[in-house]
Amino acid sequence: MINSIIDEHTIERLRAFINGVSRIVITCHKSPDGDALGSSLALCHVLRRLGKEATVVTPDMAPKALEFIPGVRELVVYTKHEARARRILSEAQLVFCLDFNSMKRIDRLAELVEPLNVRRVLIDHHLEPDDIFDIAISHPEVSSTCELVFRVLMQMGQMRLIDRHAASCLYVGLLTDTGGFAYSCDNPEFYEILSIILRRRIDRIGLYNKAMNTFSADSLRLQGYAISEKMELFPEQGAALIVLSKEELERFNYNRGDTETLVNKPLAIPEIYWSVFLREDTDKIKVSCRSQGDFSVSDICTRYFNGGGHFNAAGGDFAGTLDEAVAVFHQVLNDLFPNNDNPDEQSTIE
Ligand code: 5GP
Ligand code: MN
Repeated sequence: MINSIIDEHTIERLRAFINGVSRIVITCHKSPDGDALGSSLALCHVLRRLGKEATVVTPDMAPKALEFIPGVRELVVYTKHEARARRILSEAQLVFCLDFNSMKRIDRLAELVEPLNVRRVLIDHHLEPDDIFDIAISHPEVSSTCELVFRVLMQMGQMRLIDRHAASCLYVGLLTDTGGFAYSCDNPEFYEILSIILRRRIDRIGLYNKAMNTFSADSLRLQGYAISEKMELFPEQGAALIVLSKEELERFNYNRGDTETLVNKPLAIPEIYWSVFLREDTDKIKVSCRSQGDFSVSDICTRYFNGGGHFNAAGGDFAGTLDEAVAVFHQVLNDLFPNNDNPDEQSTIE
């Protein structure tokens, strides 16, 4: 049985919000991933089947590797179609915010979304969402925003609207946000949801290969180089660090998404339980962190890297040089493991 985790009053209000409008905008976080795009496009498809004029407006482009998700070509991308995004948002009567917890995560799109005099509905699974939403469906305990969109539709009694197209979108988020059903999917209900999705006759293997196991030759070479030449290990502190400069990325014709799962790789080493990847971007250092077990990288990203995220998967934008970001990483090591010589007395984050 799939329990109702969203309170009924919230579902009633959401139903009333949707019934009362015809033009709806859905937005998700910048550098959208499989869950952000999958949940947004699934909800958009379902709302259109309900007769609504729904559009997904993203802060920036979807990575090439996710162009296979049904509906991606119809995205209104703010950095590419600014005038259209402005017009659609100005005409919107309801805005859904999917897979992010703070307006910072939608970049300059926030300047358009914040002043709107319409209701805003959050559907998200990140910790500590901003308190600016008319409805906040925030459940950090679920695997993905796609799972939450499924649960919203289930509780609204609209599961029949989840056709093959919407189910394919949802599957991508369930798959990618759990690293291929590896983590954040302990709840048996997750598999009950999955079984309903599979009954929509989605192309499970095709979607799996495209979402999890498709890389360009350049991307594979870059990842090989990063692991072979750039991975530093700190076994005493259970840590790994990979740093890639702009010059190195350019050498491998870097495209957005090419290093998407790289930060996970060092966790394959038994002694390593947290991993940091620093990537030099045009105007910042993009920080990605992953951990296993009872070690919060969300705390690290919040405290040191102007970011946040989930307990075991977090990130941030560091304003500074690559060397400065590396220095901060060493600061983290010193702060968290002050008695390096005596691992038994290592402190942990409060
Ligand atoms: P990734 O390492 O894949 O970029 O991000 C992993 C997770 O960390 C994301 O799902 C998101 O929750 C969080 N995250 C990544 N970058 C940022 C950021 O700049 N700010 C915040 N608050 N969270 C981030
Ligand atoms: Mn997500």
